Formats: sequence, C-alpha cells, structure tokens
Amino acid sequence: MDLLIQGIGQLVTPLGKGPLSGSDQGRLQVLDDAYIVVREGRIAEVGQGSPPRLPCPTMDAQGRLVTPGLVDPHTHAVFAGTRVAEFLARTRGDRYTGGGILTTVAAVRAASEDELVELARPRLLRMLQEGTTTVEIKSGYGLTTEDELKMLRAIRRLSEALPLTVVPTFLGAHAFPGELPREEYIELVVEEMLPQVAKEGLARFCDVFCDRGFFTVEEARLVLTRGREHGLSPKLHADELADVGAAGLAAELKAVSADHLLHVSDRGMEKLAEAGVVGVLLPGTAFVLSEPYPPARRLIQAGVPVALGTDFNPGSCPISSLPLVMSLAVLRLGLSPEEALCAATLNAAAVVGLAEEVGSLEPGKLADLVIWDAHELGELPYFIGHRLALVVVKAGEVAWRTSGFSPTPS
Ligand SMILES: [Zn+2]
Repeated sequence: MDLLIQGIGQLVTPLGKGPLSGSDQGRLQVLDDAYIVVREGRIAEVGQGSPPRLPCPTMDAQGRLVTPGLVDPHTHAVFAGTRVAEFLARTRGDRYTGGGILTTVAAVRAASEDELVELARPRLLRMLQEGTTTVEIKSGYGLTTEDELKMLRAIRRLSEALPLTVVPTFLGAHAFPGELPREEYIELVVEEMLPQVAKEGLARFCDVFCDRGFFTVEEARLVLTRGREHGLSPKLHADELADVGAAGLAAELKAVSADHLLHVSDRGMEKLAEAGVVGVLLPGTAFVLSEPYPPARRLIQAGVPVALGTDFNPGSCPISSLPLVMSLAVLRLGLSPEEALCAATLNAAAVVGLAEEVGSLEPGKLADLVIWDAHELGELPYFIGHRLALVVVKAGEVAWRTSGFSPTPS
C-alpha cells in the first residue's frame, strides 16, 4: 500500500530500533509542518515543508498531531466472564490478593475457542480505536494443557482476523489451579504445556507471575529457563504484591521485561538497568486497586528503560485505553508526555520484540501511525479519557477512522 500523509501539524516520535533509557527516553523528534511517504506499507520518507507530488492516495492531517501507533506490551485481553462482583467488593473495602484469577479460569475453561475469539474481537477493536496498533496478549486463564492451548489458538485467530499486530505470550504459570499439588502443576507446565506450545508455534514469550502467594523465584527460574530452551523469550510479572526478588531474576535471565514493579528494591532497579531489562509499568492496575504507584522516576534515573501497558484484564484492571494509561503516567508516575509516548511506543515495541519493525516513525519501519484530534503532544495526557484518535493507520492502510473527520485533501 502506497500513501502520502501531508498536512501534519506536528509529528512526534522517538527514534531508533531499541529501547531508550535515562534522559534519552524524553528526547523525541518533533517536526512541525511534516509529511510521511509510505511505500508498500512501510515508511519511505519523513520530511518537512512541501510534500512531493506522488501518484498515490493522499491523506491530509489538517494540522493535527501524528505519532507512531501505540504498542500495548502487557494485556490479558482474551477471557470469558467478568469480575464485577469482585470489583464492587473492593469498593466496599476488600483487598486484592490475586485470588479472583481462578474465577476467570473457570469461565475460560467453560468457553469454546470460538467464544473466546468472539468475546475478544470487540475488545481489540476498541483498543485499535484508541490508537493501539500492536498488542501483546497472554494465556494463563486455562491452567490445563488443553485450555492453555485453546487460549493461544484463539489469540492466533485474532491476529489473523484483525488489523493489529498481536504478539502471543504463554503464561501457564499465572496461578496454581486447585486440582493439582504445586509440584505437579509446575511439572505439567514444563513437561507438557511448553513442548506443545512450542511445537504448534503458539507463543513468542514465556511469562510467570512471580510474587507473594504465586510462583517463587526458584519456580519462575525453572519455568522460564525451560521456556527459553523451547525458543520462548522470558518475561515476568515481578514484585507487584511484594518484593520477592523477581526483578533480580529478570536481570539474571536477561528477560525482555519485568512488569509491574510496584515493590521493586533499589538493588533490583540497579540489576534491571545493568542487564538492559525494560520495566513495564501498569499504572491502570494501581489506579483500579488503589495501590501505590510504581517508582517510575527512580527507575528512569537508575537507567531502566520504562514502557507502559494497560494490563487489561477482567480482575485487577478493566482499562484497555493506552491514552488513559498515558494520562495516569503523567499525572501519577511523574513522566513527561514525551517519556510517556516513548514508553507506549518504542520501548513497548522492544518489550514485544518488534522494535525494528514498529514503535517509531522513520524510514524502513511499518507505517503504523495515528492522526490525533490534537495539535501538540501534551493534549494526549491532558484530555483524560477523551477518545482523540481520528485515523489509525496499520502498515499503510486505514485500519479505523472516526466519522466526522475526512482526511481527503481539499
Ligand atoms: Zn498481567
């Protein structure tokens, strides 16, 4: 698909093919009066001033802000049922311990693969309409070989059916199902699930919920090491409920990311920085659970590249909007709008192994971008909860556009 996008009032993008850390995370390219030339779905040229005359379809951004398509590196978007009762119980003072995961497990086990696909499809379309063009989705609500495979096959079908890049992660070690002793469940994950997942090519990453009341550091090390032997890159739910040393394990394994980090220690931060592990922060979850926010500024100061995700899931975070999460990051984590954009684009792309393909607007990368109903970047976090995406372009094609905005040149 060839395309010229002209009339861009302000084009804001990080640059590079890897995550940005420290002060670099807030140093973005800002081009006023810009245009983008797309050839065969990829960016051929980014320029300023008069656009070239080209015999291809042309879009006019009419002075609006353009950024890379957003990348959500941490979701549990495939699920069945809701956890409204648990949500309301928390509003009356109950505390989140993660125990409700088994409620969703029961609902997912009862659902067919077709039902999981149909339930997730509108959720992913809503994410697309908020500007998300790449999304990671985890299994982890099956907890039997058959049901984990069912979830991952549903994720694969969604990736084939929708105009988003969907990155699958195997999270068999999400919780312990009631029906098996602890050691037997871990044996099932490493001896049966991992080989099957690898054989069918159903996941790119292996994740473990390494926290108080869930998988220990030793158990997580075993699952992630075996996952790597099957070709799945390691990542972790780390130190969300307590500091159990999960960040240190992420560094030891050179995991692609350590996610949550609400209770990460100073030593854990240093280890993440030394190992180049990206810290994925999920402030929507802290917001929903009324938990303390992760130490984003200290992570950035320690040199940890920071990414943002929604953690969209039926229990601890029913938020699927990355722009809303960017608002929380600016308001509650102390990120600048520039740092938040980098966190939700290039750094998040690194977390899903796609930083060479997406996450920034520069020649060679896929033309994944958003025309926003805004004129400067600060409006994205400022208009909290507004849906500002006007046009969402995926690989050079319009994946979604709002009615009421016509990008046809006059
Ligand atoms: Zn999660």
